[in-house]
Amino acid sequence: MKPAAFEMVRPRSLDEAVRLLGEHRENARVLAGGQSLVPLMNFRLATPAVLVDLNRVEGLAGIRAAGSRLEIRAMTRQQELIDNPLVAAHAPLLAEAARCVGHVQTRSRGTIGGSLAHADPSAELPVALVALDARLEITGSRGTRTVPAREFFRDALVSDLAPDEILVEIVIPFTPPSARISFRELSRRHGDFAIVAVAAQYDAETLCVAIGGLEAVPRLCTRLMDMVRASGFMRAAIASGIEQELGSVTPNDDLEASGEYRLQLARVLLHDCLCEILPA
Ligand code: FAD
Repeated sequence: MKPAAFEMVRPRSLDEAVRLLGEHRENARVLAGGQSLVPLMNFRLATPAVLVDLNRVEGLAGIRAAGSRLEIRAMTRQQELIDNPLVAAHAPLLAEAARCVGHVQTRSRGTIGGSLAHADPSAELPVALVALDARLEITGSRGTRTVPAREFFRDALVSDLAPDEILVEIVIPFTPPSARISFRELSRRHGDFAIVAVAAQYDAETLCVAIGGLEAVPRLCTRLMDMVRASGFMRAAIASGIEQELGSVTPNDDLEASGEYRLQLARVLLHDCLCEILPA
């Protein structure tokens, strides 16, 4: 199918993009890499009257290290998260997650901001950014605000963004060089969305574990993290920590996988990730 008729506007500045979104509000959608929005439009599942194309907005792409933080502009292509040495050095978990996103063809157009704003429950970048405790800088007609990634995802395909807001930057605290990381997922085929994905990072008394694909939004596994920390990061605590974490989960159940299958997959991936990073 082809999309319903729409007008395309191509702002050159963020201020102009915000003004245009404020003018058209619910009738407009932001266009980033188009790798999710365009298929939705072709299926007529999204029928915006106006597309505000961010691809010519100055200064919305790029990665820089600032103090002890990595600052990634929203229009940075997903492939850049794999290729850029700053990401490998300061947020290796994000680079690992990006390797699981689609294919080089989709990653060379798809953006980190689009992946977050699209808020697919099975997307890999949100899981890694929840584990990394990233902060998201958002701007709109009512000004600029910062939202923790852990509070950004509201429901399947629903984020904290208002219709007139643009996700501008993702800020990630540097990962200590001594940290151990693990990103694991299972998908039907290489390049498919994850059925379940786990992102985990451990460094000297700090453990962060997040899981995606299991529910509508990524889950920070706080019960599991607390139990393993209380045990002194002993591997012996992993199994009971996983049961404590998953005991309250109502898993997604759809054509991709049953809830029961997702829960069992979550147990296996959590166990393998934690065994990979915790001290023997
Ligand atoms: P668009 O498609 O341009 O936009 C997506 C949504 O986000 C739209 O609603 C848009 O309005 C909004 N938006 C975009 N940028 C912003 C912004 N800065 N501020 C506010 N709103 C914004 N994804 C995965 O995670 N894992 C996969 O394995 C995977 N496999 C794929 C395989 C194929 C064949 C394809 C085509 C896509 C796949 N994707 C996968 C999706 C891909 O990663 C998309 O790039 C991503 O979901 C959306 O990013 P985008 O830049 O293309 O955004």
